[in-house]
Amino acid sequence: MQLIVAHGDVVTMNPAREVLRGGAVLAVDGVIEAVGSSSELLRERPRAEVIDATGCVVTPGMINAHQHLTGDPLVRSCIPDLLPPGASIFEWSVPLHGAHTPDDDELATVLCALESVQNGVTTVVEAGTVAYPERVVAGLEAVGLRGTIGTWGWDIEQGPFAAPADEVLDRQRAVVERWPAGGLVTGWVTLVGHDLASDALLVGAADLARKLGTGMTMHLSPTSSDPERYLARTGRRPVVHLEHLGVLGPHLLLGHGVWLDDDEVELVLESRTAIAYCPWAYLRLGQGVTKAGRHAEIVERGGRVALGCDASNAGDVADILRAAAVAAGIARDTRIDPERFGAHTAFELATIAGAEAIGMADRIGSVEPGKQADLVVHRTDGWGWRPRGDVGLQLVWGTDGRSVRDVVIAGKPVVRNGGCVTVDADAVWQEAAGAQRDLLERAGIAVPHRWPEIDAR
Ligand SMILES: [Zn+2]
Repeated sequence: MQLIVAHGDVVTMNPAREVLRGGAVLAVDGVIEAVGSSSELLRERPRAEVIDATGCVVTPGMINAHQHLTGDPLVRSCIPDLLPPGASIFEWSVPLHGAHTPDDDELATVLCALESVQNGVTTVVEAGTVAYPERVVAGLEAVGLRGTIGTWGWDIEQGPFAAPADEVLDRQRAVVERWPAGGLVTGWVTLVGHDLASDALLVGAADLARKLGTGMTMHLSPTSSDPERYLARTGRRPVVHLEHLGVLGPHLLLGHGVWLDDDEVELVLESRTAIAYCPWAYLRLGQGVTKAGRHAEIVERGGRVALGCDASNAGDVADILRAAAVAAGIARDTRIDPERFGAHTAFELATIAGAEAIGMADRIGSVEPGKQADLVVHRTDGWGWRPRGDVGLQLVWGTDGRSVRDVVIAGKPVVRNGGCVTVDADAVWQEAAGAQRDLLERAGIAVPHRWPEIDAR
């Protein structure tokens, strides 16, 4: 199958960061074969399907390196934002996950995948809280979203899907073997992380990821709680302890890594450990990113950082352009330095640098021959684009996912003219409303409404 996206301004994110005005991208069987002149490629491939991107901006698909596909999507904006630390997780998220049925897992994934693709996200890293991986994969495949997937991994004493370390590792291995690298969905070793894993599980998970040649992800230090608990249990800060166990390395993507001290930053850099940075989640949850966050410094020192959107009640919107803008804003404002970490750096994290951080820069993250044809066409008839200025400034500061018109993943059109063409969004939204009611009932949770709601029909 041949597809040409033609006549757009192609932001390649190639090593020279070239932007081709009025350029074209040719995809053959899902892979980018050529990037160049629209007139030439259209003449050479007269039978190719064409997406006319006249007046539009074409970018690589964006990468969301930390996203909970289950649990939260069905209860968006149900978890209050005025809660004591930890309550949103242990009083809300965990019981909701525990009450999830296999059908809920698939529906939540479809919902989140729909939102993602419509915002120009073409790859997601699932954050480590999936009960029914085969149903989550079915949801990703239905929409056509690229992703990595694991299964719930913790060996605490009580909690949904908790199990002894050996059993958790067996489950992880089964997922990675069932979805090997190379397809739309790739199995990863995923732990919940925080202080919710024994040393045996941490070590076993890292060994497994290295042995199977795949990635590993886990949550760590979004707040000061993980450092306090690791210090109490081990006498070491979290990243120092992981180093001591031999868990750090290029296979590892830490979700968050907000509260790192100087030694931990050095260890992250030295070990080439990657971090998924979800700024909106820390702001929504009041976790201290503006005081403690070191992400911009890690980027500036050559470290591996990708952006993430976290969850539908923590970060809320699965839109990497919003995350990119606030990441740049935090970097500049916390140091009161308008000469660091601007829009162009932020857009690198959303694309090629993000791809590198999740170990996929050979396949995605830029518009270059040989890469997977993951492309986003942004319309430029909104206010943030009028009149046209520097494309990097406009992508990050001027717009967000609402400008996304078309999305192609692995050469397959997934969004056309702003609507998903692979699944029926209206039907999914309708189903989700009913599923939310049932899920809350099973979890025994009544959603409080802060303002009185009065029946006025
Ligand atoms: Zn998370």
